[in-house]
Amino acid sequence: MQLSSELGKNKKHRKPWIKSQQRWTWIITILWMLIANLWPPFGLYGFVCMFTPIIIALSGRGKMSCARICPRGSFIGKFTGHISRKCSMPAWMHKKSFRFALWGLMMGSFILLMIWAVPKGIHTLGKTVLYFMEAATFIAFLTGIVFKPRSWCTICPMGFTSGNIRELLNKNYKNR
Ligand code: SF4
Repeated sequence: MQLSSELGKNKKHRKPWIKSQQRWTWIITILWMLIANLWPPFGLYGFVCMFTPIIIALSGRGKMSCARICPRGSFIGKFTGHISRKCSMPAWMHKKSFRFALWGLMMGSFILLMIWAVPKGIHTLGKTVLYFMEAATFIAFLTGIVFKPRSWCTICPMGFTSGNIRELLNKNYKNR
């Protein structure tokens, strides 16, 4: 209750958010992958990309990270734009049940990988985060070619999580 009340106050007095940075944030994706492939501990930077949308959503700013910052969203938008078939995704891929199943599959795999990698040290951990995110970026890229450029963002587990946090916070705010 207190949290929703705080959010309500924040909504009224919130400073304007930064303008969209997505024209250039794709560079972060490329640099991160290049550096982390050469020096695996840098793969841990992937956690920043992973958790930024969630932290921003928890701050009451909804999917601002997706709309204005996300390096992966920027990357797939930039590099699939000209080669995309621009087809619409089938209706079943928009369903919450599908997005939830994908979320469970990806989060479950990630947790299992973390349980395996953490005891093996920072090099293995960094490589594991890097490979996981490279695989996700590859799938996002293919999705952008087969469907519209940013189609991945409809089903992306991080976007799905931040959307759910936004809904939950809005519901709390309305019910207070
Ligand atoms: S939905 Fe996923 S890939 Fe798309 S902008 Fe948000 S976090 Fe990035």
